[in-house]
Amino acid sequence: MRYVSTRGRAPLVGFIDQLLRGLAPDGGLYLPESFPDLTDIGSADDYAEAAFRVTFPYVADDIPADDWGSLLENAYRRFDTPEVVPMIELGDGHFLLELFHGPTLAFKDLAMQVVGDLFEYALGRRGESVTVIGATSGDTGAAAVQALADRDGIELFMLFPDGGISEVQRRQMTTCQSSNIHNLAVAGSFDDCQDLVKAMFADDAFRDEHRLSAVNSINWARVMMQIVYYVVAIARLGDSVTFSVPTGNFGNVYAGHVARRMGARVNGLIIASNRNDILTRFHDQSVMEIREVIRTTSPSMDIQVSSNLERFVFEALDYDGDATAAFITGFREAGKVADDRVAGAYRSAFSAAMLTDEEGAAIIADLDAQLGILIDPHTAIGLGAARRLRPGGTVVTLATAHPAKFGDAIVAAIGRPPAVPQRLQAVLNAPESFEVVPNDAETVTSIVARSRQEF
Ligand SMILES: *Cc1c(COP(=O)(O)O)cnc(C)c1O
Repeated sequence: MRYVSTRGRAPLVGFIDQLLRGLAPDGGLYLPESFPDLTDIGSADDYAEAAFRVTFPYVADDIPADDWGSLLENAYRRFDTPEVVPMIELGDGHFLLELFHGPTLAFKDLAMQVVGDLFEYALGRRGESVTVIGATSGDTGAAAVQALADRDGIELFMLFPDGGISEVQRRQMTTCQSSNIHNLAVAGSFDDCQDLVKAMFADDAFRDEHRLSAVNSINWARVMMQIVYYVVAIARLGDSVTFSVPTGNFGNVYAGHVARRMGARVNGLIIASNRNDILTRFHDQSVMEIREVIRTTSPSMDIQVSSNLERFVFEALDYDGDATAAFITGFREAGKVADDRVAGAYRSAFSAAMLTDEEGAAIIADLDAQLGILIDPHTAIGLGAARRLRPGGTVVTLATAHPAKFGDAIVAAIGRPPAVPQRLQAVLNAPESFEVVPNDAETVTSIVARSRQEF
């Protein structure tokens, strides 16, 4: 299995190479040359085994089966339930798939726990080290800090929008005292953070000197690990399923799309947006047009430039890298883009709905009152979108975070705070360390260069 760049101007590479590089040298995202067909996943109750069967074809050329199997088993042992992703029924054929039972209580752990182990495995085998640079809308940062703290050969720089994430999300990063972890609070939005990261990657000399790498959802390994829970949910339910997915950077819902391409019985995929609804407007109006980022009570979706969409665009344009590059750069330069082929493929692959903070809060209150189930503001957007679109058949809404990560929004919705799980108690009291930086590529670059020399 080899990996191609969505911009079509980078050499094909193997799994480990694309893992460690993160972003292709031509600025594109890596994608496997083809999607393998799903085979029997065995028992849907053994999550690590199912993960092995779904993902092994992607790594088989680079990682022996025994190594991959034990890596997955170790990673999923760190979840607080043997089911890893428990499912609860809400009635009327609607289910919640709880993706927040990992160490940082959001779905990012499902991939990041594996990616942390995978980096150490790959670097150890090659005797190399890397500087991992990431931008986060909150949960990726927490998951990455947890997964990479004290790892040999890895220095992590995590950029987050200052004031743009919840207190718990910030504390999950900033209370980590490991010397290889560097938290940078950027005076800007998540999109600004993501652009700073891309600027560092675009500087070839800097990139090579510091051996830059990425663990954002632009890294294929993350998308790959997220395919698994779609397949597992379908196997457990024994039926085809429509998934409703709270969406920001398009990573999670794209993984659902790949599951379908591999042959999983995905009936439909709902893109659920908060008021940063560029992906929903693109669906309904066929024009993708950027607007200012609005801060909402679902901050992990406060995004206008959804990086992973590039992978879907590349597919829709029949793996034409030049056409994909033209679409993406056209969008970045003009702030808007229209392409009938992409829009048509997008409309047939997904449906979409937008919910405001108020609508989300009403969903949280309703579910709490009717069923005594407390959901987080991102999950509420997903559930609300499913209720509005009423796809019929079996519907699974992805519960992407634990409500305790967003206490203020929960208080606003139901008038009382969520119970705080044991795993969060410690971060609420520990001292924080982070550096506030301007939204300026030169400054951020020099911080990365300085710290890298120290280590
Ligand atoms: C990251 C995140 C999302 C959005 O996922 P994408 O892959 O960026 O679309 C939704 N909900 C929560 C809680 C998240 O952390």
